[in-house]
Amino acid sequence: MKKKTNILLIYTGGTIGMVKDYETGALKVFDFDTLIERIPELNQLECNIDSISFENPIDSSNMNTSYWTAIATSIEENYERYDGFVVLHGSDTMSYTASALSYMLENLGKPVIFTGSQLPIGDLRTDAKENLITSIQIASLKKKGAPIIQEVCLYFEYKLYRANRTTKINAEHFEAFASLNYPSLVESGVHLIVNYENLWHSKRVKKFIVHKKMDDNVAILKLFPGLNKEVLQSILEAPNLKALVLETYGAGNASTDEWLVSKLKKAINNGLHIVNVTQCSGGGVILGQYETSVALQKMQIINGKDITTEAAITKLMYLLGSNVSHNSFKTIFETSLRGEMQ
Ligand code: ASP
Repeated sequence: MKKKTNILLIYTGGTIGMVKDYETGALKVFDFDTLIERIPELNQLECNIDSISFENPIDSSNMNTSYWTAIATSIEENYERYDGFVVLHGSDTMSYTASALSYMLENLGKPVIFTGSQLPIGDLRTDAKENLITSIQIASLKKKGAPIIQEVCLYFEYKLYRANRTTKINAEHFEAFASLNYPSLVESGVHLIVNYENLWHSKRVKKFIVHKKMDDNVAILKLFPGLNKEVLQSILEAPNLKALVLETYGAGNASTDEWLVSKLKKAINNGLHIVNVTQCSGGGVILGQYETSVALQKMQIINGKDITTEAAITKLMYLLGSNVSHNSFKTIFETSLRGEMQ
């Protein structure tokens, strides 16, 4: 008899498994076994599904680096036993967690698919069932005995994306995520269409390594007209701050005011890593295209190119946690490690 594929579901929390609190009317998490019971359709899938759950499932707004390590450790401990992993996660911070995991899981040779939903699984119009069932089907896809997907992905509303290219763009629509700088990997319609040319594969078969240290001495600053000196100064001088994602305008532009330029330059000279990313949802940084980015280019700001803010902040945490040397930091950041940038 043909051996079935083995999939591990990792439940972290999120709307997908929430119920309404009778007293307050607010959505809160409930236990995972009940969730599985609510989807008898899972029994029809051609795979064995096991599940594990966070002891106390969370709303993903409570996500932090320790939980990322816990997810990475669950995958590491079960890596040999399963053909693929589906992580159920709240949509609010899903792009951050999934981007973080893409760095933490080096030389991944199996699918790790994040999914969740906008409505709880018990809701009549829920999007949870489709998201969960199709994620499991995609995680089970194989060609010549090898998994077709070998990277960390995010599945929502009929599309599978590279996780570290995604952003949550809508708190209302079922189509909650977008990947504006990279095309989808799989589309679900009457058939599952795999866009093979977009998939990530490690060049050579290398040993799977799990990195568990993420350094959280990082910050994000979104530029806006009217940002004042004192506020900028207090962010740049925050105790222990090692790296900053600077969300600039358009193609990586910032005000040419002398005080702004000199404060950023001084911070970089003092050892702070500053990454220039665009605050636009699509497109990226092109240093030197406008006069308003020339000073940033000259001060050796790190070019975030077309990376998302979520992938940039987690990449900083990963590189700092891996003790990358100060001199090679900029070059390594500007290199695509998991397909997160051009
Ligand atoms: N607040 C929820 C969470 O992120 C929203 C969701 O699951 O979609 O956990």
